[in-house]
Amino acid sequence: MDPATTAQLTDQLLAKTTEITAEGVLLLAGAGLLATVGYRISLAIHPYVRCGWCRGRGRDYGEVYRRAFGDCHHCKGTGRKLRLGVRLLHTGRRR
Ligand SMILES: [Zn+2]
Repeated sequence: MDPATTAQLTDQLLAKTTEITAEGVLLLAGAGLLATVGYRISLAIHPYVRCGWCRGRGRDYGEVYRRAFGDCHHCKGTGRKLRLGVRLLHTGRRR
């Protein structure tokens, strides 16, 4: 391959790269927007996650009297916790 052809190819490649980058930025922005909107919808429909402390049972069992239990003090017996996104973005349903 002679140097002239190589230079020509390099120019073409560079042109293509710039083109792809411009489109890529738009595509990324679109994908990011779509993901954000999807996440907001998800937060609105499913604002809770299972409480990690009681594994969603809402009960806190005693250490000595193992059958005895009270309300989980982390989720107040509901067994659920608001999702991080709901707490940060102040969105979604709340009861
Ligand atoms: Zn809990």
